[in-house]
Amino acid sequence: MKKRPRLILVLAGMMLTYFSGCGPQTLPPPKPRIVIVLVIEQLRYDYLVRFGSLFSGGLAELAREGAVFTNARHRHALTECAPGHATLLTGCYPSQHGIVGDQWYDRSRRRLVSSVEDSSCTILNSPFRANAFGKSPRQLLRTTLGDWLKAEDSSSQVISLASSDLAAILMGGRRADAAYWFDPTSGKFSSSTHHLPGLPAWVKKWNDAAPGDRFFNATWEKLLTEADYLLSREDLFVAEADGIHTTFPHPLNEEGESLGANFYQRLAASPFGDELVLEFALATLRAQQLGKDEHADLLCLGLSATHSIGKTYGPLSQEQQDNLVRLDLNLGNFLEEVEREIGREHLLVALASDHGVLPLPEELRRRGFEAARVSAEEAHEEITGALQELANAKPDSVLIAYAHNGLYLHTPGFGNGAIQTQAQIAAHLRTLSFVADVFTAGELASQATEAREYGDVFRNGYFAGRSPEILFRRKPYFLIGGPRGTAAGSMYDYDTHVPLIFWGEGLKAGHYEMPCSTVDFAPTLAHWLGLSIPREVAGQKLTMESDGLVQK
Ligand SMILES: [Zn+2]
Repeated sequence: MKKRPRLILVLAGMMLTYFSGCGPQTLPPPKPRIVIVLVIEQLRYDYLVRFGSLFSGGLAELAREGAVFTNARHRHALTECAPGHATLLTGCYPSQHGIVGDQWYDRSRRRLVSSVEDSSCTILNSPFRANAFGKSPRQLLRTTLGDWLKAEDSSSQVISLASSDLAAILMGGRRADAAYWFDPTSGKFSSSTHHLPGLPAWVKKWNDAAPGDRFFNATWEKLLTEADYLLSREDLFVAEADGIHTTFPHPLNEEGESLGANFYQRLAASPFGDELVLEFALATLRAQQLGKDEHADLLCLGLSATHSIGKTYGPLSQEQQDNLVRLDLNLGNFLEEVEREIGREHLLVALASDHGVLPLPEELRRRGFEAARVSAEEAHEEITGALQELANAKPDSVLIAYAHNGLYLHTPGFGNGAIQTQAQIAAHLRTLSFVADVFTAGELASQATEAREYGDVFRNGYFAGRSPEILFRRKPYFLIGGPRGTAAGSMYDYDTHVPLIFWGEGLKAGHYEMPCSTVDFAPTLAHWLGLSIPREVAGQKLTMESDGLVQK
């Protein structure tokens, strides 16, 4: 991206001050013609610091020329993808918008449900999923930035697209004109009948051209010199990937494999997957003529490769370092094209992430941390054992479903009996090897957790009827999961600390160190779009020094 001097702006400001003939002047912030919300999944804040010297593209530009909030955190307990995206775009907590996890146990349907499933609609362009549930933001119970924009100006376009369905759907909100996502079974971009009756001709054409297929037979190799990877650990490390494909180079397909779902899944989980989504974003921008008139548009753009690579190899892997360097370059190319199309002066780019991630527990132990990997079976066994110890309780008589963050009980209500049962169970579970604390639905629905450590984030993350009745606070650095890889999901810093960056004309570049929250993201953008912010929004607009462009 080209650096453009800000001299013109300064001169314009000086002239205004001169002609008005008075002291400080406050001009309204220049309203962008398009806001691009870029949510890079699992982008830990520390990546920008650790690899800053290696970046020269889009991440470098945003960090250098943007207003960077260095102390932004998610403030809900279950830091998964769906609540992260929903929180960023609604400015509300999961306790308000209802997206408590990627999925949750639904009592009436007696099964786990996805945060975006909706049987009243169908997925477009997915012959492989003809019988699968449709998808929509129906379960998202609050409005999004896109909804606020559409309410203000129905001629504004709101389009959300992402590597993953839930990112695209939840970021866009109910009134989005379209949500597109990469379908790893077909290698094509899909949407939902919630948004569109059918895919537009330009999307069909894009899909038919199958630009992703050019990566068939491609190999992901290191981009940098060997010495650059000293910023990460050795390439060969226990507990990465499937235990076999742990080192560079990483071929995208097995020998003799034909073009199909296995390849597309590996493509989506590689840096080339993000490259493809960015290409589709540019095609969208051009086909829909986004940012071309006075009606401000919103493009939400979700990139998932960083998440896939992080959970497979961990945040200290050479794979993650290489991915981020490639992402930086791909983003640089993308933003340069966008600037060329729309003009920098009409553009506002905002970057955030849905959550961070825990380093591999094996790596943490090597560094002296008390970290552990607990298998789901081990955790389940411990829980069942503790429940059996309870008087008169066979586990199945109290337990409906076991979720990785808690337990769904047969006594969902808040009557005395239910609260007593919850409290008894909680007392027993506090002794489990991986548990630091236990919150109950009864406590979270009352103010009983006010003084408790992490009580606020558990309350922010709790939604009655969707959250479990018993919620675990895992010990820090404890991972419950499979034998390899890692995950997010806790309320600890490694999972909650993410960058928030705002980049555009009138925003003063610099590092803003005041603590802030991801619920502040949407209201800040609403301010710059001149939108009124719904009263129920939990966040508030972040103030940048030259907010309102004060000329002195
Ligand atoms: Zn994610």
